[in-house]
Amino acid sequence: MTSQVSDQNDLPSLWTHEPHTHLEFKPGDKVADIKTNRTPGFRGSKSDAPALQAERNERFAELQEMLYAGSRSGDDTRSVLLVLQGMDTAGKGGIVKHVVGAANPQGIRYTSFGKPTEEERAHHYLWRIRNALPPAGHIGVFDRSHYEDVLIVRVHNLVPPDVWEPRYDEINAFERELVDAGTTLVKVAMFVSLDEQKKRLAERLERPDKYWKYNPADIDERLLWPKYQEAYQVMLDRTSTDYAPWHIVPCDKKWYSRLAITELLIEALKGLDMSWPPADFDIEAEKQRLASA
Ligand code: AMP
Ligand code: MG
Repeated sequence: MTSQVSDQNDLPSLWTHEPHTHLEFKPGDKVADIKTNRTPGFRGSKSDAPALQAERNERFAELQEMLYAGSRSGDDTRSVLLVLQGMDTAGKGGIVKHVVGAANPQGIRYTSFGKPTEEERAHHYLWRIRNALPPAGHIGVFDRSHYEDVLIVRVHNLVPPDVWEPRYDEINAFERELVDAGTTLVKVAMFVSLDEQKKRLAERLERPDKYWKYNPADIDERLLWPKYQEAYQVMLDRTSTDYAPWHIVPCDKKWYSRLAITELLIEALKGLDMSWPPADFDIEAEKQRLASA
């Protein structure tokens, strides 16, 4: 086991570039132009995915453990926050299950954000978000997030424009605060095509093991896709910052989106420049004590 893993370039050769270079939102990028069936930066194919995913899940888990170990040894600032946004069926749940699920649950702080409860509605929209932030050493996972407050809220006029409009700047200031306090944000916008979404919704209606994922309201949201497209565009334009950029992940191919998001997490963790915490005891003395214990 290596003690210093951060400077290793271990990107699998099936990737032509580090995924973030292809996926990071750039000013001028248009949601309408996203090719949801592409596999940017990946030169392999679906048949390469299972073995590579397993290998990279292990790498991710190792780095996550290092983050957690550091916090147990006194690093009380660093954390990672994965923000997953996407329309229904984009695959947020699959990322949680197949990517985040590879990590030790001890170091994960997972929250799914649905329609606010009465208690949540009585507070500022960031109240429930602040309550769910990852402690030091943890990876927070937001399955939907504060961005719903400028997406569904905007599309459905749940509050008037003069209320949601200032939220973009407020979210930027909030995220700046998180970054300054030691959190690395990995913001991922997951996009499926309307055709692929239709297939996935149809599957949910065919399979008893998937009924639980089906919500009749998903069809209503689907019909509002042009309005969502606009809301996603403004969100990306206004909240992709140098300290917390958005990544656009094409999600028609689940195997690709899972591999890509795994690499984004690995990159974020490697950026923390971690190493295993040294022993804070005399190793030889402890070996002697153990031998005679
Ligand atoms: P799901 O992710 O499938 O469990 O669905 C959760 C639903 O809650 C989605 O339709 C979201 O758009 C909705 N939701 C999440 N956050 C908010 C919010 N702040 N205001 C209104 N609806 C929300
Ligand atoms: Mg749903």
